[in-house]
Amino acid sequence: MKLTIQNIEFEVVKGDITAQPGLEAVVNAANAELSPGGGVAGAIHKAAGPDLYKECKPLAPIQPGEAVLTNAYQLPNKYVIHCLGPVYGQDKPESELLAACYRNTLKIAEEMEITSLGFPAISTGIFGYPAELAVDVVFNTVLAELSGIEKIKKIKFVLFSDKDLHLYETQLKKISVG
Ligand code: ADP
Repeated sequence: MKLTIQNIEFEVVKGDITAQPGLEAVVNAANAELSPGGGVAGAIHKAAGPDLYKECKPLAPIQPGEAVLTNAYQLPNKYVIHCLGPVYGQDKPESELLAACYRNTLKIAEEMEITSLGFPAISTGIFGYPAELAVDVVFNTVLAELSGIEKIKKIKFVLFSDKDLHLYETQLKKISVG
């Protein structure tokens, strides 16, 4: 599903964040050490190859809400923006930290003049953030940032399950009817 808002194309798909060749940058749901680990981070490091961790190592550790940029190596993208989401029930306030993740990622993308960007559902896997709560934070945050965005032309949300796809599509439909 696609929707254009203020000249930015939003797209919601079910898919794998490591297989998004049309995007200049993809976002990693990172851990503090920026190491491979599981979930999205494991998949991104595996697909990018060992040079990614070499670049990541000196940038770690990062704090919840923080984001850092690296090259994407063997991924079909130019950059990876690694963002550390909050661990639900531990890093507080969770919604503020999750919002900071998306804000800081968009800020880096703008600074680097990145035109297209793909997000996974940060914090909603191993970090336990309920997806139906996270999706509200995601859309509220991104929509609030739109007026400051000049370079980004496409934002794609790449979801791993039918349930998450449905949650995101429902949000996008709500926005499209105002
Ligand atoms: P976190 O540690 O921030 O919770 P995870 O990587 O555990 O991050 O999961 C975040 C979300 O990404 C979950 O919904 C998970 O199912 C999903 N996910 C896992 N692997 C991939 C992938 N390769 N592409 C897109 N989404 C993925």
